[in-house]
Amino acid sequence: MPVASHERRLGAGRLVRRVHRRSSLTACQGPPRELPPRRMKPAAFAYHAAETLEQALALKAQLGDEARWLAGGQSLLPAMNLRLARPAALIDLNPLAALDVIAPTADGGWRIGALTRYRGIERDARIARAQPLLSEALSQVAHPQIRNRGTLCGNLAHADPASELPAVMLALDARLHARSAAGARWIAAADFFRDIFTTALAQDELLIEVELPKLPARTGSCFLEVARRRGDFAMMGIAAVLTLDQDGICGHASLAYCNAGATPQRPRAAAQALIGRRVGAPEIDEAAALAQQAIDPPGSVQADAGFQRHLAGVLTRRALRRALERAAAPETPA
Ligand SMILES: Cc1cc2nc3c(=O)[nH]c(=O)nc-3n(C[C@H](O)[C@H](O)[C@H](O)COP(=O)(O)OP(=O)(O)OC[C@H]3O[C@@H](n4cnc5c(N)ncnc54)[C@H](O)[C@@H]3O)c2cc1C
Repeated sequence: MPVASHERRLGAGRLVRRVHRRSSLTACQGPPRELPPRRMKPAAFAYHAAETLEQALALKAQLGDEARWLAGGQSLLPAMNLRLARPAALIDLNPLAALDVIAPTADGGWRIGALTRYRGIERDARIARAQPLLSEALSQVAHPQIRNRGTLCGNLAHADPASELPAVMLALDARLHARSAAGARWIAAADFFRDIFTTALAQDELLIEVELPKLPARTGSCFLEVARRRGDFAMMGIAAVLTLDQDGICGHASLAYCNAGATPQRPRAAAQALIGRRVGAPEIDEAAALAQQAIDPPGSVQADAGFQRHLAGVLTRRALRRALERAAAPETPA
């Protein structure tokens, strides 16, 4: 039976009502004692649940850099718990259900909204057919628990160069739609990632959706990575896309790498080595060698830069072979 309660301030402005149940011992000894105050893992912050998109954008414009958007919380909350991030305020996007959207565009592409979780994309059969590279990469991002909460847009805004998804966006020539109280604009994926954890978004902008263009017929793709354990960030990863013409000549190629520099890397010379040619082992070897030269892997305790380069060569050859097989399969694009 609840017998006592007290309110405690949790961060700036959040009140939590704690209800204690009287144990048989305390029942005999009179009212319970006040619990000592407990420290929270994150520093104090104000919490704002977004009511409408317009209200959220206006609030961000007003609070500026002090406030951060909260989407899945899978990068932001660990950083706050470690006190690597100390935003004065969070604007929670989760009440904005309309931003959880996967929808076709008029020209056969796909748009994915700011609140669409990884798991929703990964399990969407339409995306698996139309954009198989994204589905394939998502199955290699983190663990199911994290994929149940994390969002594609949150991931891209976070701009971790080791993440799989920025490389996928580059390889697919995605467009990113940014909105603020002042207006909206489209940003090409190639212009979005500026540095480690740094994007082209202004401090008052929200990444509202991502648009993936329709893939031409006879397009094959492949995402591969090497990580020490399943679910870990990759030591090296590649997103490869190839389009063949009716004669089997490569008309378009795109290669992008994660954990290969301060931003996802797209070595254009490597892709160029494939275009206009009938792709076989020599062309693939040439592209792999050019990619190895072009990337700038950071190295880590798990894999030094030399080993990362070696992985890039091996993964490029494997991914291109698989993308080529898929492009040549009769039913492509998947
Ligand atoms: C144990 C663990 C393992 C992981 N492994 C991987 C992995 O292998 N590969 C990988 O890619 N990631 C991995 N992650 C990170 C995970 O993918 C995050 O979910 C993702 O990076 C951030 O998405 P989110 O929706 O959780 O964003 P949040 O954590 O809510 O936000 C991240 C940042 O983006 C901002 N933001 C969020 N949404 C928007 C928006 N729409 N517009 C503008 N800014 C926005 C926030 O303010 C914050 O600064 C891992 C995380 C954990 C905890």
